[in-house]
Amino acid sequence: MRHRASCQCGALSLEAVSDPELVIACNCRACQRRTGAAFGVGVLFPRSAVRIEGDSRAWSRVAESGRQMTSHFCPVCGTSLFWLPEMRPGHVIVALGCLETEVAAPSRVIWAEAQHDWVRFPEHLPHYEKAAP
Ligand SMILES: [Zn+2]
Ligand SMILES: [Zn+2]
Repeated sequence: MRHRASCQCGALSLEAVSDPELVIACNCRACQRRTGAAFGVGVLFPRSAVRIEGDSRAWSRVAESGRQMTSHFCPVCGTSLFWLPEMRPGHVIVALGCLETEVAAPSRVIWAEAQHDWVRFPEHLPHYEKAAP
């Protein structure tokens, strides 16, 4: 399956020629700030299957694991399109909201401790208080 994703203005986009390996709903404060939304949803692809088009600016933070998390955003419109976790080298995580194609629903929920009271995910999903082990 081929997936495309782009920023709001279209200057930064990517194509993934693979099915996602994982779809994760994350309630952490960093994802809340990155998206401006109640939670972020990340779609994990193998790095080798992803071709990025356009310039991006990068910003890194240290995740609770102690590893770097580098977000790439469009220098024109500021959309955070994808990020590269040092924890998972060889992978790209793409912001679900930027995808033009449908992917499966999240299969896990992380950072449940920061989840807003009114947010509900299906109960059958594994929930982790912090990052998944
Ligand atoms: Zn843009
Ligand atoms: Zn997060």
